[in-house]
Amino acid sequence: MPKLSRRSFMKFTAASVAASALAQKRAYAKTDDNNKAFPLMTAGAATSYGICHFCSVGCGIEVKVKGNELISTEGFIDHPINQGALCPKGRSLKEMHNSELRLTHPLVRKPGGNKWEPISWDEAIDKIAKKVKDVRDKSFTKTVDVNGNTVTVNRTEGIFSLGSAEIDNEEVYLYTKFNRALGVHHYTHQAEV
Ligand code: SF4
Repeated sequence: MPKLSRRSFMKFTAASVAASALAQKRAYAKTDDNNKAFPLMTAGAATSYGICHFCSVGCGIEVKVKGNELISTEGFIDHPINQGALCPKGRSLKEMHNSELRLTHPLVRKPGGNKWEPISWDEAIDKIAKKVKDVRDKSFTKTVDVNGNTVTVNRTEGIFSLGSAEIDNEEVYLYTKFNRALGVHHYTHQAEV
């Protein structure tokens, strides 16, 4: 091992301290550059609040919109149910909303067809209403009354109705009334996904 004289040792130490100071200065400069106060992504965005629609837990969401663009969905920290937390489904709300794959209009596959084609909401609602009526007419339950006559009653076994995790108590009440008026007895108000 080469011998280090006292003078060389002092020079070496001074050079090391200088190099170390320079490196530290560079590090601070780098840190300063990295810490530049960039504006927040959400600066200037309008805030509104909603409920995650994926399940009946009903977590609160803080929604940020800039222009016409949804830029952020986060758990609403003051919401009594989730207190800012979201599960992976709720966490993906923004991505789902902004996805190019998101379906935003009804599609129909015509009889004999092999592809889905877009139709208007009015057409879709008419088709569904006609289908509900057809199935209902064909699947009404028959029974025998006290006089021995066969009668058709307002009960269909041909339809199952699935509600939504987004509807509230009053809407569930109306949904139940609507189903019973149709004769649909197989239904659940909650989309159990
Ligand atoms: S899907 Fe997740 S985030 Fe959405 S309401 Fe249910 S628990 Fe909450």
